[in-house]
Amino acid sequence: MNRSLAEIAALCGGHVANVGDSDIFIKGVATDSRSISAGCLFVPIRGERFDGHVFAGDTLKAGAGALLWSKSNGQPPGPAVVVDDTLQALQLLAKNYLLECKAKVIGITGSNGKTTTKDLVFSLLRATYKVHKTKGNFNNHIGLPLTILAMPEDTDIVVLEMGMSGRGEIEMLSMLAEPETAIITNIGESHLLQLGSRLEIARAKLEILAGLKPGGLLVYNGDEPLITKTLQDPATIKPTEFNTATFGLQATNDDYPSGMMFLEGSTVFTSSKEGGTPLQLPLLGEHNVVNCLAALTVARHYGVSEEAIREGLQHVELTGMRIEIVSGISGITILNDAYNASPTSMKAAISVMEKLKGYRRKFLILGDMLELGELEQDYHKEIGKFLTVDKVDQLFTYGPLAGFIAEAAAENLDTNNIHAYTDKIELIDKLKSMLHPKDALLVKASRGMKLEEVVDAVKDFN
Ligand code: ATP
Ligand code: MG
Repeated sequence: MNRSLAEIAALCGGHVANVGDSDIFIKGVATDSRSISAGCLFVPIRGERFDGHVFAGDTLKAGAGALLWSKSNGQPPGPAVVVDDTLQALQLLAKNYLLECKAKVIGITGSNGKTTTKDLVFSLLRATYKVHKTKGNFNNHIGLPLTILAMPEDTDIVVLEMGMSGRGEIEMLSMLAEPETAIITNIGESHLLQLGSRLEIARAKLEILAGLKPGGLLVYNGDEPLITKTLQDPATIKPTEFNTATFGLQATNDDYPSGMMFLEGSTVFTSSKEGGTPLQLPLLGEHNVVNCLAALTVARHYGVSEEAIREGLQHVELTGMRIEIVSGISGITILNDAYNASPTSMKAAISVMEKLKGYRRKFLILGDMLELGELEQDYHKEIGKFLTVDKVDQLFTYGPLAGFIAEAAAENLDTNNIHAYTDKIELIDKLKSMLHPKDALLVKASRGMKLEEVVDAVKDFN
């Protein structure tokens, strides 16, 4: 965002302070005092543990051009736009900047696959449009406005990931961004602890309809009955008129795949909307084909040619640790899915292993899935029961909850091939003692388990 301080004040309803006669020109916005770029606007946010306002002076010394400043904090230590509340002002600034730029918005929510789908949509649109997307996982009440404010003025389409941990959050993000197209990837179990039931999770995701532009398009996973159910619920806030398109594995969807095959790190399939020549997605897994169908639906809606779609698929730019294939010098192939885990995504990743061919043995390294609420042990046991000899040769679990995966896996697997650990170093040592080149390894757990440490430890050992 390039704006003068006076323009910024007008956009967020504040007033300029500590500036002489000549206005200050601002380039960019930062909320993290450690990543200040020259001439940016530093936006201090009041968190639970500390208040960003205390770093304001340092950010000016580091080159920030001016501050956004909550008036309850007294006088700003330098040029500033003074507002009632910096967080609300940041959101309003983003909303009004977006309106000025006139970029079209594609909003993406769902339990799993938001980041992947966002990256796919971006890849398919970028040859045809000037597109901007959420960086990494900047999908919350701060990350989403920052994404908008990082968007070049002449952007045609901005692809925004919308995340949540409770009711009301997606509604707020959707009202801010007012998407013209909304995608709901799926309904899983993430945040079950906070929301209580899958139906309540579906309701939270469908809040994306609250800000959908009248006449806009909702693209959703038709395999999930809870979405259809919530869509029909009169209590769901939605625009008076909007269109829908479904995707999913079932042939009842507007777009569904056939002839799915894994081929050296990619998945080949045919989209029912197209017929004829199969598409090659440079990602593994049925779940990624489903994410891709959502992206294809959107690309076609925006008139992207089949040629541009195929071209886009060849150059998909992904965010790391989502079934990322890591080939270490050891010759071992690692599917690094350590970014996060929930029962749905864990089963999806394990199914990838099932279809994987040409490896000596398949190792699963599975850690705890966190925040699942009262039924957390059952969810882990369910994964254990899901494991069969065609999916895994050697199972390693890490963490107390993952121990229930190991316990339940004894139903279908030889107990000699099940190794349960609560100490990561011990797990790594045992794993290293067993691995051979040509083995394939899937590593997956919730973020808090930091299983990428296992990936780092085994990828380059000899
Ligand atoms: P977060 O809520 O953490 O932002 P996300 O919704 O952005 O997650 P991704 O980062 O795209 O999701 O993927 C996270 C993991 O979820 C992947 O590594 C994969 O295992 C799994 N996953 C991705 N897409 C799907 C899907 N459509 N269905 C089930 N699991 C999926
Ligand atoms: Mg994400």
